[in-house]
Amino acid sequence: MKPANSLLANTGTTIFTVMSALAQKHRAINLGQGFPDTDGPADVIQAAADALQDGRNQYPPLTGVPELRQAVAAANARFYGLDLDPDHEVVVTSGATEAITASLMALIDPGDEVVLIEPLYDTYLPVVRMLGAVPRLVRLEPPHWTLPRAALAAAFGPKTKAILINSPMNPIGKVFTAEELGFIASLLQQHDAYAICDEVYEHLVFDGHRHIPLMSLPGMRERCLRIGSAGKTFSLTGWKVGYISGPAALMGVVAKAHQNLTFTTPPNLQRAVAVGLAKDDAYFAGLAADLQAQRDHLVRGLEAAGFRTLPSGGSYFVLADYAALDSDGDDAAFCMRLAERAGVVAIPLSAFYATEKPRHHVRFAFCKRTALLDEAVTRLTRYFGAGQSAAAVPLTAAE
Ligand code: PMP
Ligand code: GLN
Repeated sequence: MKPANSLLANTGTTIFTVMSALAQKHRAINLGQGFPDTDGPADVIQAAADALQDGRNQYPPLTGVPELRQAVAAANARFYGLDLDPDHEVVVTSGATEAITASLMALIDPGDEVVLIEPLYDTYLPVVRMLGAVPRLVRLEPPHWTLPRAALAAAFGPKTKAILINSPMNPIGKVFTAEELGFIASLLQQHDAYAICDEVYEHLVFDGHRHIPLMSLPGMRERCLRIGSAGKTFSLTGWKVGYISGPAALMGVVAKAHQNLTFTTPPNLQRAVAVGLAKDDAYFAGLAADLQAQRDHLVRGLEAAGFRTLPSGGSYFVLADYAALDSDGDDAAFCMRLAERAGVVAIPLSAFYATEKPRHHVRFAFCKRTALLDEAVTRLTRYFGAGQSAAAVPLTAAE
Protein backbone atom coordinates (compact mmCIF):
# COMPACT_ATOMS: atom_id res chain seq x y z
CA MET A 1 0.00 0.00 0.00
CA LYS A 2 1.23 3.49 -0.75
CA PRO A 3 1.77 5.61 2.36
CA ALA A 4 -0.59 8.37 3.41
CA ASN A 5 0.54 11.99 3.48
CA SER A 6 3.99 11.90 5.07
CA LEU A 7 3.78 15.28 6.74
CA LEU A 8 0.56 14.51 8.56
CA ALA A 9 1.53 10.93 9.28
CA ASN A 10 4.56 12.31 11.09
CA THR A 11 2.65 15.01 12.96
CA GLY A 12 1.84 14.06 16.54
CA THR A 13 -1.55 14.47 18.20
CA THR A 14 -1.80 18.01 19.57
CA ILE A 15 -0.31 18.43 23.04
CA PHE A 16 -3.62 19.87 24.29
CA THR A 17 -5.52 16.70 23.46
CA VAL A 18 -2.74 14.52 24.85
CA MET A 19 -2.66 16.39 28.15
CA SER A 20 -6.47 16.56 28.50
CA ALA A 21 -6.59 12.78 28.04
CA LEU A 22 -3.93 12.44 30.71
CA ALA A 23 -6.00 14.62 33.04
CA GLN A 24 -8.96 12.29 32.58
CA LYS A 25 -6.87 9.17 33.04
CA HIS A 26 -5.37 10.38 36.32
CA ARG A 27 -8.46 12.31 37.47
CA ALA A 28 -6.15 15.29 37.59
CA ILE A 29 -7.09 18.99 37.59
CA ASN A 30 -6.73 20.19 34.04
CA LEU A 31 -4.83 23.47 33.90
CA GLY A 32 -3.44 22.36 30.53
CA GLN A 33 -5.74 22.92 27.56
CA GLY A 34 -6.99 26.49 27.54
CA PHE A 35 -10.74 26.49 28.09
CA PRO A 36 -12.82 28.24 30.77
CA ASP A 37 -14.75 26.03 33.17
CA THR A 38 -17.74 28.37 33.22
CA ASP A 39 -19.91 29.18 30.23
CA GLY A 40 -19.97 32.52 28.49
CA PRO A 41 -22.74 35.14 28.70
CA ALA A 42 -26.28 33.77 29.11
CA ASP A 43 -27.76 36.19 26.55
CA VAL A 44 -25.35 34.98 23.87
CA ILE A 45 -26.21 31.35 24.61
CA GLN A 46 -29.92 32.19 24.58
CA ALA A 47 -29.49 33.96 21.24
CA ALA A 48 -27.99 30.75 19.81
CA ALA A 49 -30.86 28.67 21.19
CA ASP A 50 -33.41 31.09 19.72
CA ALA A 51 -31.59 31.12 16.39
CA LEU A 52 -31.83 27.33 16.19
CA GLN A 53 -35.61 27.55 16.37
CA ASP A 54 -36.39 30.20 13.82
CA GLY A 55 -35.93 28.33 10.60
CA ARG A 56 -32.60 29.57 9.32
CA ASN A 57 -30.84 26.24 9.47
CA GLN A 58 -29.68 25.82 5.88
CA TYR A 59 -26.36 26.93 4.41
CA PRO A 60 -25.66 30.54 5.31
CA PRO A 61 -23.76 32.86 2.92
CA LEU A 62 -20.22 31.67 2.24
CA THR A 63 -18.47 34.61 3.93
CA GLY A 64 -20.79 34.59 6.97
CA VAL A 65 -24.26 35.82 7.93
CA PRO A 66 -24.64 39.57 7.34
CA GLU A 67 -25.39 40.22 11.05
CA LEU A 68 -22.04 38.82 12.10
CA ARG A 69 -20.01 40.42 9.32
CA GLN A 70 -21.55 43.76 10.27
CA ALA A 71 -20.86 43.11 13.96
CA VAL A 72 -17.21 42.25 13.24
CA ALA A 73 -16.80 45.43 11.19
CA ALA A 74 -18.47 47.45 13.96
CA ALA A 75 -16.21 45.91 16.60
CA ASN A 76 -13.13 46.77 14.52
CA ALA A 77 -14.31 50.39 14.40
CA ARG A 78 -15.32 50.54 18.06
CA PHE A 79 -12.22 49.00 19.59
CA TYR A 80 -9.48 49.99 17.14
CA GLY A 81 -10.81 52.71 14.84
CA LEU A 82 -10.49 50.36 11.86
CA ASP A 83 -12.90 50.95 9.00
CA LEU A 84 -13.92 47.69 7.26
CA ASP A 85 -16.52 46.95 4.63
CA PRO A 86 -18.60 44.07 6.09
CA ASP A 87 -19.46 42.80 2.59
CA HIS A 88 -15.95 42.58 1.19
CA GLU A 89 -13.52 42.72 4.09
CA VAL A 90 -14.78 40.17 6.64
CA VAL A 91 -14.92 36.38 6.36
CA VAL A 92 -16.40 34.19 9.11
CA THR A 93 -14.70 30.83 9.65
CA SER A 94 -15.14 27.74 11.79
CA GLY A 95 -12.85 28.94 14.55
CA ALA A 96 -9.57 30.82 14.44
CA THR A 97 -7.94 27.50 13.61
CA GLU A 98 -9.61 27.52 10.21
CA ALA A 99 -8.93 31.25 9.89
CA ILE A 100 -5.19 30.67 10.29
CA THR A 101 -5.15 27.94 7.63
CA ALA A 102 -7.40 29.92 5.27
CA SER A 103 -5.20 33.02 5.64
CA LEU A 104 -2.03 31.06 4.94
CA MET A 105 -3.69 29.33 1.97
CA ALA A 106 -4.74 32.72 0.61
CA LEU A 107 -1.24 34.18 0.73
CA ILE A 108 1.21 31.37 0.16
CA ASP A 109 2.58 29.77 -2.98
CA PRO A 110 4.96 26.82 -2.70
CA GLY A 111 8.50 28.06 -2.10
CA ASP A 112 7.43 31.28 -0.37
CA GLU A 113 9.01 31.98 2.99
CA VAL A 114 6.93 32.57 6.11
CA VAL A 115 8.46 34.09 9.24
CA LEU A 116 7.26 32.40 12.43
CA ILE A 117 8.06 33.28 16.02
CA GLU A 118 8.82 30.61 18.62
CA PRO A 119 7.16 29.71 20.93
CA LEU A 120 4.65 28.69 18.25
CA TYR A 121 0.98 27.80 18.51
CA ASP A 122 0.77 24.21 17.37
CA THR A 123 -1.05 24.55 14.03
CA TYR A 124 1.27 27.14 12.47
CA LEU A 125 4.24 25.06 11.42
CA PRO A 126 2.42 21.99 10.01
CA VAL A 127 0.15 24.18 7.89
CA VAL A 128 3.01 26.33 6.59
CA ARG A 129 4.87 23.15 5.63
CA MET A 130 1.80 21.52 4.10
CA LEU A 131 1.45 24.50 1.78
CA GLY A 132 4.99 23.95 0.56
CA ALA A 133 6.26 27.15 2.16
CA VAL A 134 9.61 27.50 3.89
CA PRO A 135 9.34 28.45 7.58
CA ARG A 136 11.90 30.95 8.89
CA LEU A 137 11.87 30.61 12.67
CA VAL A 138 12.85 33.35 15.11
CA ARG A 139 13.12 32.49 18.80
CA LEU A 140 11.92 34.39 21.82
CA GLU A 141 13.65 33.33 25.02
CA PRO A 142 12.53 33.29 28.65
CA PRO A 143 12.35 35.13 30.93
CA HIS A 144 11.92 38.46 29.09
CA TRP A 145 10.75 37.28 25.67
CA THR A 146 12.32 40.35 24.03
CA LEU A 147 11.77 40.55 20.30
CA PRO A 148 15.23 39.85 18.81
CA ARG A 149 15.16 42.61 16.24
CA ALA A 150 18.37 41.70 14.42
CA ALA A 151 17.33 38.03 14.10
CA LEU A 152 13.87 39.05 12.97
CA ALA A 153 15.26 41.40 10.33
CA ALA A 154 17.63 38.65 9.17
CA ALA A 155 14.73 36.21 8.76
CA PHE A 156 13.16 38.50 6.16
CA GLY A 157 14.40 38.34 2.58
CA PRO A 158 13.27 38.59 -1.03
CA LYS A 159 11.21 35.38 -0.75
CA THR A 160 9.35 36.42 2.42
CA LYS A 161 5.63 36.42 1.75
CA ALA A 162 4.33 36.79 5.29
CA ILE A 163 4.94 36.81 9.00
CA LEU A 164 2.54 35.13 11.42
CA ILE A 165 2.31 36.92 14.73
CA ASN A 166 0.26 36.09 17.80
CA SER A 167 -0.49 38.91 20.24
CA PRO A 168 -1.39 38.46 23.06
CA MET A 169 0.83 35.44 22.68
CA ASN A 170 0.08 31.86 23.64
CA PRO A 171 1.75 30.38 25.72
CA ILE A 172 3.84 33.22 27.17
CA GLY A 173 1.25 35.96 27.68
CA LYS A 174 3.37 38.51 25.81
CA VAL A 175 1.46 41.53 24.54
CA PHE A 176 3.41 43.14 21.71
CA THR A 177 4.18 46.81 22.29
CA ALA A 178 3.55 49.61 19.80
CA GLU A 179 7.33 49.85 19.26
CA GLU A 180 7.67 46.14 18.49
CA LEU A 181 4.72 46.28 16.13
CA GLY A 182 6.21 49.36 14.48
CA PHE A 183 9.43 47.44 13.89
CA ILE A 184 7.51 44.55 12.32
CA ALA A 185 5.54 47.03 10.20
CA SER A 186 8.77 48.55 8.86
CA LEU A 187 10.02 45.08 7.87
CA LEU A 188 6.76 44.32 6.10
CA GLN A 189 7.02 47.53 4.11
CA GLN A 190 10.68 47.06 3.35
CA HIS A 191 10.11 43.52 2.04
CA ASP A 192 6.63 43.98 0.58
CA ALA A 193 5.27 41.24 2.83
CA TYR A 194 1.98 40.51 4.65
CA ALA A 195 1.11 39.70 8.24
CA ILE A 196 -1.31 37.10 9.51
CA CYS A 197 -2.25 38.39 12.94
CA ASP A 198 -3.59 35.78 15.32
CA GLU A 199 -5.37 38.03 17.82
CA VAL A 200 -7.69 35.50 19.45
CA TYR A 201 -6.84 36.91 22.91
CA GLU A 202 -7.44 40.53 21.84
CA HIS A 203 -9.90 41.14 24.69
CA LEU A 204 -7.91 39.28 27.33
CA VAL A 205 -5.31 41.94 28.11
CA PHE A 206 -4.47 42.90 31.70
CA ASP A 207 -3.00 45.59 33.94
CA GLY A 208 -4.61 48.51 32.14
CA HIS A 209 -2.85 47.79 28.85
CA ARG A 210 -4.63 47.72 25.53
CA HIS A 211 -4.34 45.36 22.64
CA ILE A 212 -2.96 47.04 19.53
CA PRO A 213 -3.69 45.35 16.20
CA LEU A 214 -0.75 45.54 13.81
CA MET A 215 -3.41 46.38 11.23
CA SER A 216 -4.05 49.73 12.97
CA LEU A 217 -0.49 50.99 12.35
CA PRO A 218 0.24 53.32 9.42
CA GLY A 219 0.56 51.45 6.14
CA MET A 220 -0.63 48.15 7.62
CA ARG A 221 -4.31 48.26 6.65
CA GLU A 222 -3.56 46.65 3.27
CA ARG A 223 -1.00 44.15 4.58
CA CYS A 224 -2.74 42.43 7.50
CA LEU A 225 -5.21 39.61 7.92
CA ARG A 226 -6.50 40.01 11.46
CA ILE A 227 -8.00 36.96 13.15
CA GLY A 228 -10.43 36.88 16.09
CA SER A 229 -12.20 34.04 17.92
CA ALA A 230 -15.63 34.06 19.52
CA GLY A 231 -14.48 31.09 21.57
CA LYS A 232 -12.07 33.31 23.50
CA THR A 233 -14.06 36.53 23.46
CA PHE A 234 -17.19 34.87 24.87
CA SER A 235 -15.70 31.97 26.86
CA LEU A 236 -17.35 29.47 24.52
CA THR A 237 -14.37 27.63 23.07
CA GLY A 238 -16.43 24.74 21.71
CA TRP A 239 -18.40 26.99 19.38
CA LYS A 240 -15.57 27.40 16.90
CA VAL A 241 -16.59 30.67 15.31
CA GLY A 242 -13.70 32.77 14.03
CA TYR A 243 -13.45 35.85 11.86
CA ILE A 244 -10.87 37.38 9.56
CA SER A 245 -10.71 41.09 8.79
CA GLY A 246 -8.53 42.31 5.95
CA PRO A 247 -8.29 44.35 2.78
CA ALA A 248 -10.79 43.56 0.02
CA ALA A 249 -7.94 42.71 -2.36
CA LEU A 250 -6.98 39.75 -0.15
CA MET A 251 -10.31 38.82 1.38
CA GLY A 252 -11.74 37.58 -1.90
CA VAL A 253 -8.95 35.01 -1.98
CA VAL A 254 -9.42 34.21 1.72
CA ALA A 255 -13.08 33.45 0.88
CA LYS A 256 -11.88 30.96 -1.77
CA ALA A 257 -9.78 29.21 0.84
CA HIS A 258 -12.74 29.10 3.24
CA GLN A 259 -14.95 27.72 0.46
CA ASN A 260 -12.55 24.82 0.05
CA LEU A 261 -12.08 24.15 3.75
CA THR A 262 -15.54 24.27 5.33
CA PHE A 263 -17.55 26.50 2.95
CA THR A 264 -19.73 27.83 5.81
CA THR A 265 -20.01 27.96 9.59
CA PRO A 266 -23.22 27.16 11.57
CA PRO A 267 -25.57 30.13 11.07
CA ASN A 268 -27.17 29.97 14.52
CA LEU A 269 -23.87 30.33 16.33
CA GLN A 270 -22.85 33.12 13.99
CA ARG A 271 -25.96 35.09 14.81
CA ALA A 272 -25.42 34.64 18.54
CA VAL A 273 -21.82 35.84 18.22
CA ALA A 274 -23.14 38.97 16.50
CA VAL A 275 -25.24 39.60 19.64
CA GLY A 276 -22.12 39.10 21.75
CA LEU A 277 -19.95 41.52 19.80
CA ALA A 278 -22.56 44.23 20.34
CA LYS A 279 -22.38 43.85 24.13
CA ASP A 280 -21.51 46.96 26.11
CA ASP A 281 -18.03 47.99 27.18
CA ALA A 282 -18.67 46.69 30.69
CA TYR A 283 -18.79 43.12 29.37
CA PHE A 284 -15.38 43.36 27.70
CA ALA A 285 -13.83 45.16 30.67
CA GLY A 286 -15.32 42.60 33.04
CA LEU A 287 -13.99 39.67 31.04
CA ALA A 288 -10.43 40.99 31.28
CA ALA A 289 -10.80 42.02 34.93
CA ASP A 290 -12.12 38.60 35.96
CA LEU A 291 -9.32 36.81 34.17
CA GLN A 292 -6.73 39.16 35.64
CA ALA A 293 -8.02 38.30 39.12
CA GLN A 294 -7.81 34.58 38.29
CA ARG A 295 -4.27 35.08 36.99
CA ASP A 296 -3.26 36.83 40.20
CA HIS A 297 -4.88 34.16 42.32
CA LEU A 298 -3.06 31.33 40.58
CA VAL A 299 0.23 33.21 40.49
CA ARG A 300 0.11 33.73 44.26
CA GLY A 301 -0.57 30.03 44.79
CA LEU A 302 2.14 28.86 42.40
CA GLU A 303 4.71 31.18 43.97
CA ALA A 304 3.80 29.91 47.43
CA ALA A 305 4.18 26.33 46.16
CA GLY A 306 7.73 27.10 45.00
CA PHE A 307 7.29 27.92 41.30
CA ARG A 308 8.74 31.11 39.86
CA THR A 309 6.10 32.60 37.60
CA LEU A 310 6.81 34.83 34.60
CA PRO A 311 4.76 37.95 33.88
CA SER A 312 1.62 37.36 31.79
CA GLY A 313 0.08 40.46 30.24
CA GLY A 314 -2.72 38.68 28.37
CA SER A 315 -4.28 35.36 27.25
CA TYR A 316 -5.45 32.47 29.45
CA PHE A 317 -1.95 31.46 30.46
CA VAL A 318 0.94 31.96 32.84
CA LEU A 319 4.34 30.30 32.57
CA ALA A 320 6.09 28.92 35.60
CA ASP A 321 9.73 28.00 36.07
CA TYR A 322 9.95 24.87 38.22
CA ALA A 323 13.77 24.68 38.48
CA ALA A 324 13.72 25.29 42.23
CA LEU A 325 11.34 22.35 42.72
CA ASP A 326 12.65 19.67 40.38
CA SER A 327 16.06 19.37 38.77
CA ASP A 328 14.82 17.47 35.71
CA GLY A 329 14.93 20.06 32.95
CA ASP A 330 12.81 17.86 30.67
CA ASP A 331 9.52 19.72 31.00
CA ALA A 332 7.49 17.03 29.21
CA ALA A 333 8.62 14.37 31.69
CA PHE A 334 7.93 16.81 34.53
CA CYS A 335 4.36 17.35 33.28
CA MET A 336 3.77 13.60 33.08
CA ARG A 337 4.90 13.23 36.68
CA LEU A 338 2.81 16.19 37.75
CA ALA A 339 -0.32 14.69 36.21
CA GLU A 340 0.26 11.22 37.59
CA ARG A 341 1.56 12.05 41.04
CA ALA A 342 0.41 15.55 41.94
CA GLY A 343 -2.91 15.31 40.11
CA VAL A 344 -2.44 18.57 38.18
CA VAL A 345 -2.02 18.94 34.44
CA ALA A 346 0.12 21.66 32.83
CA ILE A 347 1.58 22.00 29.34
CA PRO A 348 5.35 21.81 28.75
CA LEU A 349 6.73 24.97 27.12
CA SER A 350 8.94 22.80 24.90
CA ALA A 351 5.79 21.74 22.99
CA PHE A 352 5.78 25.23 21.46
CA TYR A 353 9.33 25.03 20.08
CA ALA A 354 10.44 23.29 16.89
CA THR A 355 14.12 24.12 17.35
CA GLU A 356 16.14 23.67 20.54
CA LYS A 357 13.82 22.86 23.45
CA PRO A 358 13.69 25.28 26.38
CA ARG A 359 13.98 23.67 29.79
CA HIS A 360 12.05 23.68 33.07
CA HIS A 361 9.07 25.86 32.15
CA VAL A 362 5.42 24.84 32.10
CA ARG A 363 2.22 26.62 31.14
CA PHE A 364 -0.76 26.79 33.47
CA ALA A 365 -4.23 27.95 32.34
CA PHE A 366 -5.91 30.25 34.86
CA CYS A 367 -9.31 30.57 33.09
CA LYS A 368 -10.87 28.47 35.87
CA ARG A 369 -13.05 28.95 38.94
CA THR A 370 -11.21 30.02 42.08
CA ALA A 371 -12.10 26.80 43.88
CA LEU A 372 -10.47 24.72 41.17
CA LEU A 373 -7.34 26.90 41.13
CA ASP A 374 -7.17 26.55 44.92
CA GLU A 375 -7.48 22.79 44.72
CA ALA A 376 -4.70 22.66 42.12
CA VAL A 377 -2.43 24.76 44.34
CA THR A 378 -3.26 22.58 47.36
CA ARG A 379 -2.24 19.49 45.41
CA LEU A 380 0.98 21.06 44.15
CA THR A 381 1.91 22.32 47.60
CA ARG A 382 1.23 18.91 49.11
CA TYR A 383 3.19 17.12 46.42
CA PHE A 384 6.29 19.29 46.53
CA GLY A 385 6.08 19.67 50.30
CA ALA A 386 5.95 15.91 50.67
CA GLY A 387 9.19 15.39 48.80
CA GLN A 388 7.37 14.32 45.63
CA SER A 389 6.63 10.76 46.71
CA ALA A 390 3.89 9.14 44.67
CA ALA A 391 2.06 7.85 47.72
CA ALA A 392 1.94 11.21 49.43
CA VAL A 393 -0.96 12.56 47.42
CA PRO A 394 -4.43 11.09 47.70
CA LEU A 395 -6.40 12.35 44.72
CA THR A 396 -9.80 13.75 45.54
CA ALA A 397 -11.94 15.99 43.33
CA ALA A 398 -11.62 15.34 39.64
CA GLU A 399 -12.13 17.76 36.77
N1 PMP B 1 -4.66 30.72 18.02
C1 PMP B 1 -4.23 30.64 19.28
C2 PMP B 1 -3.01 31.38 19.70
C3 PMP B 1 -4.92 29.86 20.21
O1 PMP B 1 -4.48 29.77 21.46
C4 PMP B 1 -6.05 29.16 19.79
C5 PMP B 1 -6.72 28.24 20.75
N2 PMP B 1 -7.67 28.34 21.19
C6 PMP B 1 -6.49 29.29 18.46
C7 PMP B 1 -5.75 30.07 17.60
C8 PMP B 1 -7.69 28.57 17.93
O2 PMP B 1 -8.88 29.24 18.20
P1 PMP B 1 -10.31 28.58 17.84
O3 PMP B 1 -10.68 27.74 19.01
O4 PMP B 1 -11.23 29.74 17.63
O5 PMP B 1 -10.13 27.76 16.61
N1 GLN C 1 -5.71 27.07 22.27
C1 GLN C 1 -5.87 26.12 23.34
C2 GLN C 1 -4.59 26.09 24.16
O1 GLN C 1 -3.61 26.66 23.79
C3 GLN C 1 -6.17 24.73 22.88
C4 GLN C 1 -6.96 24.56 21.64
C5 GLN C 1 -6.85 23.13 21.17
O2 GLN C 1 -6.90 22.21 21.96
N2 GLN C 1 -6.65 22.96 19.91
O3 GLN C 1 -4.56 25.47 25.17
